Amino acid sequence: MRIYADNAATTKMSRAAVEAMLPYLEEYYGNPSSLYSEGQKAKEALEEAREKITRCINANAKEIIFTSGGSEADNQAILTAAALGKKKGKTHIISDTIEHHAVLHTLKKLEKEGFTVTYLPAHENGIVRVEDLVNAITGDTCLVTVMYANNEIGTIQPIKEIGAVCREKGILFHTDAVQAVGHIPVDVEDANIDMLSASAHKFHGPKGVGFLYARRGIRLETLIEGGAQERGHRAGTENVPGIVAAAAALEEAAGSLGEVSERVQVLRDRLIEGLKKIPHSALNGDPQKRVPSNVNFCFEGVEGEALLLLLDDKGIMASSGSACTSGSLDPSHVLLAIGRVHDVAHGSLRLSLGDDATEEEVDYIIKSVEEVVTYLRGFSPVWRDLVNGKSKFIL
Ligand SMILES: *Cc1c(COP(=O)(O)O)cnc(C)c1O
Repeated sequence: MRIYADNAATTKMSRAAVEAMLPYLEEYYGNPSSLYSEGQKAKEALEEAREKITRCINANAKEIIFTSGGSEADNQAILTAAALGKKKGKTHIISDTIEHHAVLHTLKKLEKEGFTVTYLPAHENGIVRVEDLVNAITGDTCLVTVMYANNEIGTIQPIKEIGAVCREKGILFHTDAVQAVGHIPVDVEDANIDMLSASAHKFHGPKGVGFLYARRGIRLETLIEGGAQERGHRAGTENVPGIVAAAAALEEAAGSLGEVSERVQVLRDRLIEGLKKIPHSALNGDPQKRVPSNVNFCFEGVEGEALLLLLDDKGIMASSGSACTSGSLDPSHVLLAIGRVHDVAHGSLRLSLGDDATEEEVDYIIKSVEEVVTYLRGFSPVWRDLVNGKSKFIL
């Protein structure tokens, strides 16, 4: 048995998405910029996909730009706000400490160019506070960029409240909604969102496709110069099959969102309750304000990488943090930001359940994690020191 519990890293493409894309690979492969009917057919499919996406987030077709994924959308949104700010002499940006690297590294680049960035704390529960935002705003602030839901600990930020503050102060508000779109309700109008990033492979669409929502009137910076595709905001022949599949995936995900999240949430909580019973463990992030599929734990005296390898042997695919963090020796910046010390942060495990997860799978995961943690602690010098009282337990 293999259990895929790494849906925050990527998801399996849905049947609907695969089927939607096939005709555009095999039959209607024309370039959407071509004038003959095969090209026009591709162009129509592209616009239909755009319409479908707008319906899922309450936007207008002219507000959607297709990109190569979430990272590109994040870059384009932030660089757009920075360019607009600079024109007005405003060079202060507000973000937070638990953003995805697509946001953090773009902000680092801007800091080198003279922008100042305030990183709001995510506090112990992994959620930023609106009062901190209000206090951080200055007359110089040109952008607030706060993610909708965190990719490691799953916490959901007070997006609507942040949007309201930004709208009142006339500051652009961008949100990296890659972990939210297709998983929890997202309404750009209701939440006063000016720019939003999403990625198809996180909602059962293909990899390498995403979109940027930019409210009408925002003049987007172009990252890729060339042809006039995407109304001149993103050059390059459109990934028609990928875009069509992305729209089909999102339409399906948005359509069954309530029902799926209700079911998965119950399994998530069962998993949390089960893992909590392991001594000297702790859940990372707010227990309630998190996406329905996310579970993230730290186990004291355990090395995360070893945990993952042994879980793989037991047929469980999980992750220790973000896919970008794994492979490096640095512990997750998100876990450090919510106050986990290095040693504890190293023993982390992220399980992100699929829409079709079952109770049996969850129980098998609990049993397996328990076994592996006990086994690893059995020959861990760090654990021995904790048990012998040479060092103090934190969890
Ligand atoms: C996956 C992810 C991204 C990057 O999206 P890609 O399509 O892989 O570039 C950005 N932000 C968050 C929160 C993510 O989870």
